[in-house]
Amino acid sequence: MANSERNRKILQELVRQPDNSRCADCGAPDPEWASYKLGVFLCLNCSGVHRSLSSQVKSIKRDFWEDKLVEFMKSNGNASTRAVYEKAVPVYYYRPTPNDSVVLREQWIRAKYERKEFTGEIKYPPVSYTTGFYEGMLWKKGKENTQFLKRKFVLSDREFTLTYYNKEDESKGPKAIIAIKDLNATFQPEKIGHPYSLQITYQEEYHTRNIYVYHENPEEIVAWFNAIRAARYAYLKTAYPTGSDEELVPMITRNYLKEGYMEKTGPLQKEPFKKRWFILDSQNRKLLYFKGQLDAEELGAIFIGTEGNGYSVRECVPNNARGNKWTCGVMLVTPERQFVFMCELEGEQKEWLGALKQVLSRPMSPQDYTTEAKIKYKR
Ligand SMILES: [Zn+2]
Repeated sequence: MANSERNRKILQELVRQPDNSRCADCGAPDPEWASYKLGVFLCLNCSGVHRSLSSQVKSIKRDFWEDKLVEFMKSNGNASTRAVYEKAVPVYYYRPTPNDSVVLREQWIRAKYERKEFTGEIKYPPVSYTTGFYEGMLWKKGKENTQFLKRKFVLSDREFTLTYYNKEDESKGPKAIIAIKDLNATFQPEKIGHPYSLQITYQEEYHTRNIYVYHENPEEIVAWFNAIRAARYAYLKTAYPTGSDEELVPMITRNYLKEGYMEKTGPLQKEPFKKRWFILDSQNRKLLYFKGQLDAEELGAIFIGTEGNGYSVRECVPNNARGNKWTCGVMLVTPERQFVFMCELEGEQKEWLGALKQVLSRPMSPQDYTTEAKIKYKR
């Protein structure tokens, strides 16, 4: 069939155009699917979400395309469809990347095409996360146990706080008032064991604190996430009044560069190795370690400076067994101390070395010097 051959060629040319060469929803390169209802080119994962919304999708390589559908793709495409459905995306709204949690991708696609949240029409009542105030129940993990209990959370971007209460009744006062100032939120489905779950991290005096929450409803947890981002953005605007969106948006929330178990010994390097959960927070240049992966409070924090001021990292071979079960060593040197960590597998060791080197190679900002001084002071 000459037509089908010709149509396939037209589609191949269309998908090579700059606007179409990345997935319309997550930005993954070389999309191989398309929605012929919306006229956008999509990656395999996003096409799956579209199919579940009963938006018709086809493979641009394997499926048969009728002439009129090819014409439709030609006259639409990613850029013109985006101009309609992404006309008014709030600057703080999280746009998922190919590596993000499934729930973020799904809800972004639903918010865009199904709920039409970004078409620029004024909605009443306004979309919940845009109002500067958010409240509701979330399941929160207990501090000392693994049980999740329903807690009331209230977010205020006037006070710049996230508050939670132990009972639905607020008269007994809040259990905790968390400042938005240094709060971070990140999706953690694997660690928490629930697809719609968040790790919320904040500073309490000199400690880093974590709380772990989830909601049964995917739309609700993503609304919470974007409400928190809206409040963080409003805070950053007041803290850095001259900062551009380009500078502020990456500071709203962040994913951690690397997390995982390593074995750690003490300052004399003679102490028995203990298994600890590590989180590398690239933005704050901190390597935090915890007893368990869902702990509320860290056991310690190591500041990661630059090679120029006495920090370095290298592979190391353990010379004698001191209770370590693992043998792939990482040596982290700071001006005060050498840290020896053991990874279970070589791949893990490579990833830790790479991630730590990435932080080491970034120049330090004035804010980083403050963080460094605070960590030293705590010790
Ligand atoms: Zn995609």
